[in-house]
Amino acid sequence: MHELSLAQGVVRRTVVAAQEAKAKAVRRIFLRIGELAGVDGRQLTSAFEVVRGGTICDGAVLDIEFVAASWSCPTCAVAIESGAPLRCPTCGIAAQLAKDADALSILRIELEVDGV
Ligand SMILES: [Zn+2]
Repeated sequence: MHELSLAQGVVRRTVVAAQEAKAKAVRRIFLRIGELAGVDGRQLTSAFEVVRGGTICDGAVLDIEFVAASWSCPTCAVAIESGAPLRCPTCGIAAQLAKDADALSILRIELEVDGV
């Protein structure tokens, strides 16, 4: 299952970040997911609730932001409207998908640290 391995990746990266910061707990994890990543937010959240067990992520909340896919011209950077042909209206070359449109990234992790 796609969401399960993504959730494991999020937990793994968060655990590393929490260790580096010497955090005692993780409060919230902010994710950004591209529209074309094919990720189901609900499935990701329930997978996360399973894999976080026994880690410092236990009790942390996932905050997921979905971003719409967007295309632009790689040469003149003109944005291509959604629904329009995926070609630059000026130079005619194929439009390029924004690089985070099919990706999942961790934007920010809210940690609980001693003495702050
Ligand atoms: Zn162009």
